[in-house]
Amino acid sequence: MYASFRWCFFLWPLRTSSKALMLLAFQSLNTSDFKVRNLFSKDVAEKILETPLVSSVREDKVVWEEERNECYSVKSGYKLAMRYIIGSEKYHDVGNWNGIWKAQAPHKARHLLWRLCRGCLPTRSRLLERRVKCTLNCPVCDEEIEDELHIFFRCAVARDSWSAAGLSSVLHNATYQQTNAMDRIFAVCSNESSDTVGRVAMLLWCIWHNRNDKLWNDNVQMPRQIGRHAFDAWNDWYSVHKL
Ligand SMILES: [Zn+2]
Repeated sequence: MYASFRWCFFLWPLRTSSKALMLLAFQSLNTSDFKVRNLFSKDVAEKILETPLVSSVREDKVVWEEERNECYSVKSGYKLAMRYIIGSEKYHDVGNWNGIWKAQAPHKARHLLWRLCRGCLPTRSRLLERRVKCTLNCPVCDEEIEDELHIFFRCAVARDSWSAAGLSSVLHNATYQQTNAMDRIFAVCSNESSDTVGRVAMLLWCIWHNRNDKLWNDNVQMPRQIGRHAFDAWNDWYSVHKL
């Protein structure tokens, strides 16, 4: 007798409440009685072996139940992981994450926003937090401690870059003066159009790129070059993607 089984039972069997489904899955593998009795306590093994298989299913096959076509996709796998593994309060940061992914910008720029909001960018204060011995000063201005708020919003080079990119009204908007970079970005995502969020994302990507270029290659760009490059790069991307 054959039965199809759903492999997610094996990936997350203990996180689901449906033990019966898991038992069915074991049976569907034609697992021998001996193995079942070895793996489970006596009463559970009996229940597994008593559970009838579905007679209408003629052939075993692996299916992915998160997709209608029953084929695995990274997107649905990620959603499942978010639901079962990362969905706990411990890992969940409240915020306008959709606003980041809806931004009209190259993926690398949206990804940078996401990393920034997840606290994943290796600014010097983050590195110190993770016990990496390093100087704390901003590699661009060498005057203040480098954290996300400084490098993207408060550093003199960053401020002038915002201006050169035509985004100083966003930078100075009273609505976006939160004390941490993540809250500022979420506020921008909630209040600005996806085009403007995209422009901001592109600018932040250019600011971060300039910071790394200075740090690793000792290349220095003027703020007006950074801002102008962000402006042009976003317009080029937009003209291609909005045809
Ligand atoms: Zn600085």
